[in-house]
Amino acid sequence: MNWGKKDLLGISELSKEEILFILDSTESFKDISKRDIKKVPTLRGKTVITLFYEPSTRTRTSFEIAAKRLSADTINISADTSSYIKGETLKDTARNLESMNPDAIIIRHTMPGAPHMLARIIGSSVINGGDGAHEHPTQALLDLYTIREKKGQLDGLKIVIVGDIAHSRVARSNIFALRHFDTEIVCSGPPTMLPPHIETLGVKREYDLNKAVRNADVIMMLRIQKERGGTSFIPSTREYSTLFGLKKEHIEKAKQDVIIMHPGPMNRGIEISDEVADGPHSVILDQVENGVAVRMAVLYLLIGRES
Ligand code: ASP
Repeated sequence: MNWGKKDLLGISELSKEEILFILDSTESFKDISKRDIKKVPTLRGKTVITLFYEPSTRTRTSFEIAAKRLSADTINISADTSSYIKGETLKDTARNLESMNPDAIIIRHTMPGAPHMLARIIGSSVINGGDGAHEHPTQALLDLYTIREKKGQLDGLKIVIVGDIAHSRVARSNIFALRHFDTEIVCSGPPTMLPPHIETLGVKREYDLNKAVRNADVIMMLRIQKERGGTSFIPSTREYSTLFGLKKEHIEKAKQDVIIMHPGPMNRGIEISDEVADGPHSVILDQVENGVAVRMAVLYLLIGRES
């Protein structure tokens, strides 16, 4: 496949073939992180900027490590240390950064569509590192990569997504990606956290977590998105954790080789118990490891190849 795209803004813009192409490209990047010298010259001379208007541990670090392992120069800008607090608009910040000729800008923003706006006004590649409750494309790609790595395929699986679906960009991007495959996707959570017409996305709804997890191959847990008002949609976190917190008893109802995923940051004791998070079915840290390889592949495809 000839990768001709300038930006990665959302999974909804990718075809099944494009998703598979990124996952296949990731394979060759995974080994690099296991070497003694974790660096290849692929992006030497390229400049990658991370521009984050929302907190992040994994995504920002993961992109920075990915770019550095490919020998790109990286610059990290976060809202609290940028001219944003002096009143500069995103448009002006972007145009100023563009004047310094970066090759890629990875943006995380509270506003859905911010990366799309940026991509329209600047010539550098733009990667969406999470825009409000809208999309988080590289998270979905690393999730699919991890599922395929552990299960050997993406077809024929029952995948249960649990929690604050309505406010989760991770859930949206994963649903957009997974519905290309022959998967049964079940969303579970309190009625206030499941969007009213969620079935139109090709998923099922099940309010009872005990029923939802039956025979599941994959259980994907989500954090309550407090920063998007998530806690006001439930009576209490205690009740939430009783009804929707993943515990050992749920694992026993799923397939024997079920995998448990979480995009992080985890709120232990709320959506997931310690024994599940740290238990033998958890692939949460594999997701983090695979995130670096997936982001290396994405950076390579966008700015490392002559198209
Ligand atoms: N880290 C993920 C995100 O940025 C999930 C979360 O924050 O709950 O969307």
